Amino acid sequence: MAGKVIIISAPSGCGKSTIISALMNSGEINMQFSVSATNRAPRGQEINGKDYHFLSDEEFRSAIATDAFLEYEEVYPGRFYGTLKSEIDRIASNGSNVVLDIDVNGGLRVKHELAEKALSIFIKPPSIGALRSRLEKRGTDSMESIDARVDRAQYEIEQAPRYDVTVVNDDLDTAVAEVKRVIVDFLNND
Ligand code: ADP
Ligand code: 5GP
Repeated sequence: MAGKVIIISAPSGCGKSTIISALMNSGEINMQFSVSATNRAPRGQEINGKDYHFLSDEEFRSAIATDAFLEYEEVYPGRFYGTLKSEIDRIASNGSNVVLDIDVNGGLRVKHELAEKALSIFIKPPSIGALRSRLEKRGTDSMESIDARVDRAQYEIEQAPRYDVTVVNDDLDTAVAEVKRVIVDFLNND
C-alpha cells in the first residue's frame, strides 16, 4: 500500500462526515476518501459511489467471497460495512494518502496491521445527549436506528483511549482545525 492511512472513527451522528468533508473541501491535504461498501440503504442526500457503494445483501456476500475487502464488519445487526481493496489501490495509484471512515473494530484492526503507517483519530461527541440530539436533528434515521446508534456509541466511546488521538467535536470549526493539525503533523513526519 503506497502512502499513509488516516483512520477516523466516531459514533454515528458525531459529525465525522461533516469534518471529513470540510477537510476534503479545503484541498490543503493530499488525501482521498476511501468509499466503503455497505448493504444498508442510502439515507438523505447520499450518492452511490460517492458516500458509499450501496450493495444488496447478495452483492455484499459475493464481495466477501471474492476477497474484495481489506476488512469488513457487521456494525449493526444485519448491516455490513467494508473497505474495498480496489479503493485503496485506486488512491495509492493516484499518489495520495488514504482516509478511512470506519467503525472502532475495523479501525483498531487496521491500525494494528499498519502500525506507524497509520494515524488513528477518534472523534467524540461532547455528550451522549448531544449525540442523540444531532441524530434527531439530522432527520435521516428512524427512532429505532437512532436508538441502535446511541447504544453502540457507549461501546465505541470506551475504545477511544486505544486511538492515537481523540478530538471532541463540540464547536465544529475547532474540531476541524484540530483534526487538520494532527493529520498535517502526521503526514509531515517521516
Ligand atoms: P456522522 O458522519 O458522524 O454520522 P454527520 O457528519 O452526519 O455525522 O453529523 C450529524 C449531524 O450533526 C449533522 O446534521 C451535522 O450537521 C451535525 N453536526 C456536526 N458537527 C456538529 C457540531 N459540532 N455541532 C452541532 N451539530 C453538528
Ligand atoms: P453510517 O451508517 O452512519 O454511515 O455508518 C455506521 C458506521 O459504520 C460508522 O461507525 C462508520 O464509521 C462505519 N463504517 C463505514 N464504512 C466502514 C467500513 O468500510 N468498515 C468498517 N469496519 N466500518 C465502516
